[in-house]
Amino acid sequence: MAKTYDYLFKLLLIGDSGVGKTCLLFRFSEDAFNTTFISTIGIDFKIRTIELNGKRVKLQIWDTAGQERFRTITTAYYRGAMHASSDVEKMILGNKCDMTDRRQVSKDRGEKLAIDYGVKFLETSAKSSLNVEEAFYTMGRDIMRNLSTKTTEGTATGVGGALKITEKKSKRIKFFKCSLL
Ligand code: GDP
Ligand code: MG
Repeated sequence: MAKTYDYLFKLLLIGDSGVGKTCLLFRFSEDAFNTTFISTIGIDFKIRTIELNGKRVKLQIWDTAGQERFRTITTAYYRGAMHASSDVEKMILGNKCDMTDRRQVSKDRGEKLAIDYGVKFLETSAKSSLNVEEAFYTMGRDIMRNLSTKTTEGTATGVGGALKITEKKSKRIKFFKCSLL
């Protein structure tokens, strides 16, 4: 069967339970929002194919459960993902930015954190759609850019490197709890 895409990029959403990972994915893949909090069990993925620079890029986006009890599954999975590529694209998202009256992290603080890690930062809202397309397209574009500078990796299989949207685990701090993925 003919391939329906030129590149396959694997994205991983990481963050504490309740920050909106599943909703962000749902908004991006189905353009819908659900107010019910259905806890993700283990790991699941959705696919959306987008066009970047005239290429069909299939985004396979993995949604993880942040809860401690699923850590074994998800940790094993990250390990696999890290194998696929040594330099993984990362990005920090501050979700639920529509909830202005209950904001947990200032935009300034989010931006400073992203600068510390040398990654991009976007405030998103799965509810209002703000920056959701922008976030995933930005990731796609950055990976494409990386791929074009690397001639060996990715081309052999036609599959792009893995990437994850994350903050560095070792430095995870309390204020991530509510707003940042
Ligand atoms: P996850 O555990 O990170 O996957 O979080 P969910 O995606 O399940 O979302 C947890 C709760 O936050 C749900 O009740 C959602 O309706 C709500 N939520 C998620 N994203 C947003 C958002 O952008 N704005 C608002 N106001 N609520 C959100
Ligand atoms: Mg979830």
